[in-house]
Amino acid sequence: MKKLLFFSACILFSLSSWNISTYQGASSTGYWQQHVDYKMEIDMNVETYQYKGKQTLVYTNNSPDILDKVFYHLYFNAFQPESEMDVRSRTILDPDKRVKDRISKLKPNEIGYIKVNSLFQDEKVISYETVGTILEVTLNEPIKPRATVTFTMEFDGQVPVQIRRSGRNNNEGVVLSMAQWYPKMAEYDFEGWHADSYIAREFHGVWGDFDVKITIDKNFTIGGTGYLQNPNEIGHGYETEKVKQTKGDKLTWHFKAPNVHDFTWAADPNYIHDKMQVPNGPMLHFFYKDNDKIKANWKNLQPITSRLMQYYSEHIGKYPYEQYSVIQAGDGGMEYGMCTFITGNRKFNSLVGVTSHEMAHTWFQFLLATNEVIHYWMDEGFTSYISSLAMNDIMNRNNSHPTEGSYKNYIKMALSGKEQPLTTHADRYEFNRSYGSSAYSKGSVFLAQLGYVIGEDNLKQTLKKYFDDFHFKHPTPNDIIRSAEKVSGLELDWYLMDFTQTTNTIDYGIRGINGRDQISIVSLERVGLMPMPIDIEVEYKDGTKEQFYIPLQMMRGEKPSTTPRTVLKDWAWTHPSYRFTINRPKKEIKSVTIDPENKMADINKYNNSGH
Ligand SMILES: [Zn+2]
Repeated sequence: MKKLLFFSACILFSLSSWNISTYQGASSTGYWQQHVDYKMEIDMNVETYQYKGKQTLVYTNNSPDILDKVFYHLYFNAFQPESEMDVRSRTILDPDKRVKDRISKLKPNEIGYIKVNSLFQDEKVISYETVGTILEVTLNEPIKPRATVTFTMEFDGQVPVQIRRSGRNNNEGVVLSMAQWYPKMAEYDFEGWHADSYIAREFHGVWGDFDVKITIDKNFTIGGTGYLQNPNEIGHGYETEKVKQTKGDKLTWHFKAPNVHDFTWAADPNYIHDKMQVPNGPMLHFFYKDNDKIKANWKNLQPITSRLMQYYSEHIGKYPYEQYSVIQAGDGGMEYGMCTFITGNRKFNSLVGVTSHEMAHTWFQFLLATNEVIHYWMDEGFTSYISSLAMNDIMNRNNSHPTEGSYKNYIKMALSGKEQPLTTHADRYEFNRSYGSSAYSKGSVFLAQLGYVIGEDNLKQTLKKYFDDFHFKHPTPNDIIRSAEKVSGLELDWYLMDFTQTTNTIDYGIRGINGRDQISIVSLERVGLMPMPIDIEVEYKDGTKEQFYIPLQMMRGEKPSTTPRTVLKDWAWTHPSYRFTINRPKKEIKSVTIDPENKMADINKYNNSGH
């Protein structure tokens, strides 16, 4: 048995050194992921907003399973009256203002669609059925483990009037915002197929290499995922020498993007295209409308974007591509591979804020590609957390608690009675509002509060370890908490379970302080169901302060501290009350405070201090 293991380890080693960036087959840890290589040729008509596409998809089944079906996403079909996105938006209790009933009113020449005209598996015709935003494909030949097959497809597309994320002629007049625009293989992972309809949230894709040729009116400038292969035939600010454009009304732009799980682009005839080199980092590209009202902001944004790229590379892990683009497009802000779409007619602080948030998504969801549909809090929440820290640093805000807003939002939701656990599917929240507070605020608190539980230095190292171990993969909630456990040496399964799989809340309180001669006895109570270790600060009337720490028994250890403190005996979660002694008389105590830095999401602060 030992010999066999050694043998398979050798094979893995030689394979991984042969193609380390893309091979993610079954490994000694049991982890595997599928692989795709796309080649696409797109011909866009900017008058009708219709396009023709040819796609060759080389699909490798790294799973241990035989696949007899595959599924593609056809996202643009969501923008049709009576689609799931339309009906959900009209029936949810608090509709997204951007969508509301707008899809139901689209005319046939305004809807979005992707129509698959033909599909072959290894040159043999295969049957398929379009069901809303999913193409269900029954294979001729099942795909065996480790086998590679080639799917070839021809399709027609129509870009919808811009409703949500992608579309034509957005509010700021950008002609083409092309996100979710091509037939995209759904992901198959250890949980099986993820052929989720496009209702509101969409990201979970297969890692692979993209080779995309886009033929479009020659006046249009394109920005997006991928490196332009023919800059000197194209120009438009990409050229490195004298431009030699081909004759005719159209140009064919050739992009390659290695090791991504999505390909997005935007195009407009009035883009300004600026570039800025990040020291020890990628080339930044900026695409924004030639509009005097926004030009100064978009120029001033550039050096800040460079600092943001450096901040995230330093605090999470190095940005692995040579290019990143900030593109005025879409309907607010949305992250994509090697780029973001943001709206641009904003006040400067808002422009910086949205850029900071969307760029942070490059790490939390794009590189650390969690399944957004079920683990959105690791996507929006972790992004909100690190973006708050980056903005605090780069914009010199000097806020001692940069994630305080997330705590307030989360606590407000927890007290509202409308909270659902973070394990709820992103599209099955009763209210959009509680999805938002859960994904963004509670997800941000998850990390910020983890710093309280394991110590800030341990949290910093956890983020780096999480990145080192899981970038270019699909990490799960267990992976972030195991990273934290490995860094801190503490047991943390209770934290993941209570905070993400339940709506249990934290409420610790001070029940009383009793004086007895030269000592004082502090009585505490656990009111909420969720366990936590407790920081306590005692302030004396002479102005001095003393720190105490009550370890949580189930953590099997204590967070480290750089400042002096008294470590008290463990508190077992089962016990609703706890007492400890202060070796000073009660008359000298000014106050006793639980969690003086407000880093614990205690839903009732009124009982956190006593005297
Ligand atoms: Zn976000």
